[in-house]
Amino acid sequence: MSKKKTQIVVVGGGAGGLELARKLGARYGRKQHDIILVDRNRTHIWKPLLHEVAAGSLDANLDEVGYGGHAARWGYRFFYGSLESIDREAGTITTAPLVDPDGEEVLGRHTIRYDYLVLAIGGVSNDFGIPGVREHAMFLEQRSQADTFRHKLLNACFRANLESMDGTPGAKVQICIVGGGATGVELSAELFNAAKGLRNYGLEVFDENTLAVTLLEAGPRILPALDEELAQTARSELEALGVEVRTSTQVVEVTPKVVRTKDGGKVDADLILWAAGVRGAHGVAAMSDLELNRLGQFIVRPTLQSVSDDRIFCIGDCASCTLPGSERPIPPRAQAAHQMAETVFRNLGRIMAGRAPQDFVYRDHGSLVSMSRFATVGSLMGNLVGGRMAIEGRLARMAYRSLYRMHILAIHGWFKGTALIVIGHVNQIVRPRLKLH
Ligand SMILES: Cc1cc2nc3c(=O)[nH]c(=O)nc-3n(C[C@H](O)[C@H](O)[C@H](O)COP(=O)(O)OP(=O)(O)OC[C@H]3O[C@@H](n4cnc5c(N)ncnc54)[C@H](O)[C@@H]3O)c2cc1C
Repeated sequence: MSKKKTQIVVVGGGAGGLELARKLGARYGRKQHDIILVDRNRTHIWKPLLHEVAAGSLDANLDEVGYGGHAARWGYRFFYGSLESIDREAGTITTAPLVDPDGEEVLGRHTIRYDYLVLAIGGVSNDFGIPGVREHAMFLEQRSQADTFRHKLLNACFRANLESMDGTPGAKVQICIVGGGATGVELSAELFNAAKGLRNYGLEVFDENTLAVTLLEAGPRILPALDEELAQTARSELEALGVEVRTSTQVVEVTPKVVRTKDGGKVDADLILWAAGVRGAHGVAAMSDLELNRLGQFIVRPTLQSVSDDRIFCIGDCASCTLPGSERPIPPRAQAAHQMAETVFRNLGRIMAGRAPQDFVYRDHGSLVSMSRFATVGSLMGNLVGGRMAIEGRLARMAYRSLYRMHILAIHGWFKGTALIVIGHVNQIVRPRLKLH
């Protein structure tokens, strides 16, 4: 009788999970162990691209990866489903029934056995319980939300264009973005890049002056992860584009077309986007009895194993990992998810070989913020640059782009990855600069 294979289940095929599933599949899949990736979507798009998808300057169809084909290539199995619960005693996860937009059930509730489970389900924007945010603001947590934002943005632009053609004075597209972190800043700039191009795509009288973008930040300055000087450079760039940046401005309520602030002010907006920090996914507390922090993230030990269960690892935005000697948890970033995936890959190998898992070591390579083609600012960290080095301009842009290239190589391997990077360059030349549908 053949020996029962060890079953490793990875839930969430995002920045961390997809890289891990590929590595596990390539190393153990088919022959030794059964590797299963579960995701609630059928395709993967790298989350840091979502602001470009939302503004229309990137066609997500070209950059998406279908899990089915990827799984077949790399020797793991893909299961389409949304994690509903974890039964630690039985060693199983259950996925929720999938229902199509007409209410018809596509797949029923399903249970999958695991020997080891890796949770990589990402996070959501923190609404801090502020009234109206969930109901009336939009988010950039997944591709469908970026698509919804783009459709609404285009409709508002078409409306403003028509009003201008009809002679209505002062036609505007008013957009309020809440959260002065990387997502809010990058989206603000990307909107102006898109608006500059719209005139060439049929909106004859539309120009970027028609956009009225307000960026609200509760803290005293934008981009708290960057040095103050770089953050100030970013602010000046945004203001030069026409973005109204308001710091120390706390939002207290969101209604369908108005954002109200604590100082008694209000911002009228056709579109409201909420990008104010990261917390654990909704409903995570009901999924299992794994210990969570106050933001609903799974608390892990330095080995990235849940503090509640040695057989369960958690990586990326869904994990709360504070390393010894550090006061703050690892920040929710793509580079952290990538590094955690590598550690869990090694630790699973060690555990299955009867060796002790090793602690995660986080290497902060710096932070970069891209303001579309207008500017890129950030800092690089490491021995090569002698500690911390502030960078701007072309070098920063190249470093920013290389992050995505590294992700492409990590999920496709060198050969296909390099080919896809070249194809991406060709597409930039031959494809339209804006996605208008
Ligand atoms: C607009 C934007 C710009 C960003 N820019 C940068 C940047 O420049 N640099 C940087 O380092 N970071 C950036 N980030 C943050 C970065 O994207 C995240 O830190 C990173 O994606 C986290 O990776 P992850 O694997 O933990 O989760 P994710 O990449 O979010 O992946 C989570 C996966 O889990 C799946 N999933 C979720 N719930 C379930 C469920 N219940 N069942 C099954 N599957 C589920 C999702 O479909 C998804 O595929 C940006 C984020 C955004 C939104």
